[in-house]
Amino acid sequence: MKNGDEFKDYYEILGIEFESSIDKIKSTFRQLAKKYHPDINKEDEKDFKTILEAYKILSDPKLKENYDKEYLSRKKITYKVTSTDNKNVIPQSRIEYKISLLNISRAGFDLSKKFSRKDFLEELGEDLVVYLKDNEIEEGAILNIKLPAKAICNVCFGSNRNCYRCDGTGYITVMEEVKIEIPPKIKHLEIINIDLTKRKRKGIQKFALKELKIRVKWLSLVDIE
Ligand SMILES: [Zn+2]
Repeated sequence: MKNGDEFKDYYEILGIEFESSIDKIKSTFRQLAKKYHPDINKEDEKDFKTILEAYKILSDPKLKENYDKEYLSRKKITYKVTSTDNKNVIPQSRIEYKISLLNISRAGFDLSKKFSRKDFLEELGEDLVVYLKDNEIEEGAILNIKLPAKAICNVCFGSNRNCYRCDGTGYITVMEEVKIEIPPKIKHLEIINIDLTKRKRKGIQKFALKELKIRVKWLSLVDIE
């Protein structure tokens, strides 16, 4: 097994639970292969390689056993790190969603083309505003938000033209939680740009937005205004 940051969550890559059976792993792989195989989908060649790698490990009982052991030990470590990390999680009440984002969330993908995000941004300059307390400014903070994303249909995996879930498109719109770290000592009114194209994961194809603009405001200064 590889060391350091190279450890990959093969369960997450295949979009299945940790304790899935080998049968489930095999059937999921077959569905994903239909979607990602380089003969069909040249653009996602890299994705297919990763999926194949995950399948090779998880479908082999011996390799799977070793992998699962490491998986469990690493998950414990990750859990510890995040639980101390999460000291300054900003409550939803201090996050203000702006109209551009609300519209895209409500409309999903079809309408988001009609409502151009740029039009709203020119007026607002941001997608959301977050209000920070003094200790969060000093120490940094975590922002958990849900954003609309395009995902492979979890019922038919794109294989059924009559699917009730996705209407045969193979894709559904889901709200995906994104964790954003706000660095310490950020200035009042500063804008943080988040590149969402680098946040691809699980069955998520892409987010409705390519980029997210977050305006930071200091709660102490807003009170005075
Ligand atoms: Zn479907």
